[in-house]
Amino acid sequence: MTEPIISLNRETEIALVGGGLVGSLLALSLARRGFDVDVYERRPDMRTSKISAGRSINLALSTRGIKALNTVGLEGKVLEIAIPMRGRMIHPVKGDLAFQQYGKDDTEYINSISRGDLNKLLLSEAESTKHANFHFQQKAIGIDLFRNALELENENKNEITTLAAQIIIGTDGSASAIRNDMKTLPGFSNSEEQLDYGYKELAIPAGKKNTWQIEKHALHIWPRGTFMLIALPNLDGSFTCTLFLPFEGEKSFEKLQTRESVVDFFKTEFPDAFALMPDIAEDFFENPTGSMVTVKCGPWNVEGRSLLLGDAAHAIVPFFGQGMNCGFEDITVLEQCIDNHTASGGSLYLERRQKRDHEGAPRRFKEGSSGWRWVFDDFYRARKVNSDAIADLAVENFTEMRDKVGNPRFLLEKAVEKKLQNEFPGEYVSRYGLVTFTNRPYSLAMEAGHITDEILSELCTGISTPEEIDLKLAKKLIQTKLSPLLATK
Ligand SMILES: Cc1cc2nc3c(=O)[nH]c(=O)nc-3n(C[C@H](O)[C@H](O)[C@H](O)COP(=O)(O)OP(=O)(O)OC[C@H]3O[C@@H](n4cnc5c(N)ncnc54)[C@H](O)[C@@H]3O)c2cc1C
Repeated sequence: MTEPIISLNRETEIALVGGGLVGSLLALSLARRGFDVDVYERRPDMRTSKISAGRSINLALSTRGIKALNTVGLEGKVLEIAIPMRGRMIHPVKGDLAFQQYGKDDTEYINSISRGDLNKLLLSEAESTKHANFHFQQKAIGIDLFRNALELENENKNEITTLAAQIIIGTDGSASAIRNDMKTLPGFSNSEEQLDYGYKELAIPAGKKNTWQIEKHALHIWPRGTFMLIALPNLDGSFTCTLFLPFEGEKSFEKLQTRESVVDFFKTEFPDAFALMPDIAEDFFENPTGSMVTVKCGPWNVEGRSLLLGDAAHAIVPFFGQGMNCGFEDITVLEQCIDNHTASGGSLYLERRQKRDHEGAPRRFKEGSSGWRWVFDDFYRARKVNSDAIADLAVENFTEMRDKVGNPRFLLEKAVEKKLQNEFPGEYVSRYGLVTFTNRPYSLAMEAGHITDEILSELCTGISTPEEIDLKLAKKLIQTKLSPLLATK
């Protein structure tokens, strides 16, 4: 299946499958670089039709996502329709609310944004370049990876068409049809781990005159050990809540089959939220129960002619608020890879070729051309280790959100962490901070997180308030354990 390399030039025919968040931003990014892109999207155009309810209505946008939006000149427009969330507001079953700031100070926050509004903006911006064409109600039902041909179905018209493109990029989400076909190739590794939890979207409506009935600038969490409810603010004063609950077991979706059981469950477990959810039972039975999956696969690229990106390549569970941010960061990295190869005018390609020939890898391609294959290879090498890291971090963060945020030892460690951030600015950086407020590699955030766990554990032993920590020891631990890592990558 080794074919001539497809040159990295503006005439390349590029087809994207999936015009969701990542697909529409990628179309915009490629179009701004002068490539002509056709995007095939399964659903109708969301700018002119109703979006189905219950599918992560709002999302947390943070530094990595903002950087990618900035590259295409959209940071300002997007942040105008987002709401800053400065920390977690913890709601116990009884007792006072507790606010845990996300960042080292008020300059660090995440942003609640409507999925639909963001997607519509990206579609329109991509279209306005005149280099991106969107084809709606075109569901990819198969890809012939040998001929680079796509089979598309218009479910409305019961019509099937086939087309070929030099490059096909799958941005078709966690259940990617493109990935499904790649799975059949020898050497393609694929793991899909379903979480035994489901999620359901619910709502807290706006108060009088479109006011927010609970703190507007926070991500609200009702942690309950084996399950939790969260809520993110919307611009119209409402909150979108998401219940994360096991599918089976004592407290689970299978136990919530009647109106009474739902009302009873919410009244008992989330009394303050329940008081603000007049339509809880209707919403509960109307909205679908979603499932969550971690996808790790590779390589994402077949012979420089097809590529997976975003959730199609690396779906993760939503507990670090990073799925979209990570998909947007893919685009930043892909842009860098394209720029590197364009700038090298092929020399980088030749250098590599010589190196690989030396290593004995079989080669068959056009001399001197800089090709998409090298772009995609570089992209995969740069991203895989990082998408694997955030996938693992997201699973770990689930335990933290549902279980630990109310635990006294965890709260002490968080308070000590805050003190260290203030005492050693720039030197002590938390795992959460590295993931959410920087563009440092996710893999580095994961390694650093293991070190900060050790430091916090040592400093918190035998104390009960953050004021009691031994600052000399803290300095030594940070400088000997954390600083060398942060300096190296
Ligand atoms: C409950 C929940 C909360 C989340 N919260 C956050 C958060 O706070 N922050 C964050 O960064 N991320 C969050 N995420 C993750 C985020 O939603 C995803 O990472 C992001 O949507 C991935 O974008 P994508 O474009 O790759 O895939 P998708 O958004 O799934 O888009 C895929 C697109 O492809 C289309 N498509 C699918 N199959 C086909 C086909 N065969 N042919 C043609 N088109 C097709 C779909 O219709 C869709 O438009 C959350 C996810 C969930 C489930």
